[in-house]
Amino acid sequence: ALANPVLEVSDLHVAYGKVEALHGAGLQVGAGQIVTVIGPNGAGKSTMLNAIAGAMPNNGSMRGKVRLLGQNTDGVAIETRVARGMCLVPEKRELFASMTVQDNLLLGSYRRYKEGESGYADQMAVVFDLFPRLQERRKQLAGSLSGGERQMLAVGRALMAKPQLLMLDEPSLGLAPLIVKEIFHIIVRLKQTGVAILLVEQNARAALQAADYAYVLETGDMVLQGPAAELAHDPKVIDTYLGLA
Ligand code: ATP
Repeated sequence: ALANPVLEVSDLHVAYGKVEALHGAGLQVGAGQIVTVIGPNGAGKSTMLNAIAGAMPNNGSMRGKVRLLGQNTDGVAIETRVARGMCLVPEKRELFASMTVQDNLLLGSYRRYKEGESGYADQMAVVFDLFPRLQERRKQLAGSLSGGERQMLAVGRALMAKPQLLMLDEPSLGLAPLIVKEIFHIIVRLKQTGVAILLVEQNARAALQAADYAYVLETGDMVLQGPAAELAHDPKVIDTYLGLA
């Protein structure tokens, strides 16, 4: 167990109607860490992130404990969780296609900065420093961006809320290998700025390379965990998730 985890999840059960998708999963993310959860399609990875973020679908129900920076999140609304420091980049990215890059970024900051506050301009400079391409394209409509640029914008928008914990749902999904490399490079840079990261991925190879600690989620249970470098050498992980390549 970590001393002062940024995020601590224990005994998390999530059900859709009568069908339970998570059967008591737990994990911890320490300050300055990248923690990844890998696992096959349908294992419950998105379910877990949505439950942590407080974004359960209408037919879902959960029990268990989610503590952010030592505080319980029971009954805490999404926007309050964001204000307290957690932010989720959902798998579908959910950008506003007919708004500019810059306006999408601004929307990411509105729960963090009160009207009239100017902190968002500094935060936008931080985002543009990480993603120079977003700065070049700030006046362009989000709908006209490439897949990789959209993912960068989705991450940038989340960063506008100045999170202490950034949760990423399959950031590599649908992207070409070179772009995946770029995205992961940025994730590691982000960690160096002090943001703790919880990364859900089907791309186990890239995730294990970037992460400090890793969990394997299979059909709603955490079946394996350990330092990412160790899991990358675990025969079962190699067999099931890393293949021969
Ligand atoms: P993927 O990478 O394919 O998204 P995942 O590991 O993220 O997989 P989840 O999307 O969390 O898995 O799905 C876990 C299980 O819960 C699956 O059996 C899925 O069909 C089911 N499920 C997910 N969302 C819902 C929902 N809103 N209603 C009913 N069942 C759902």
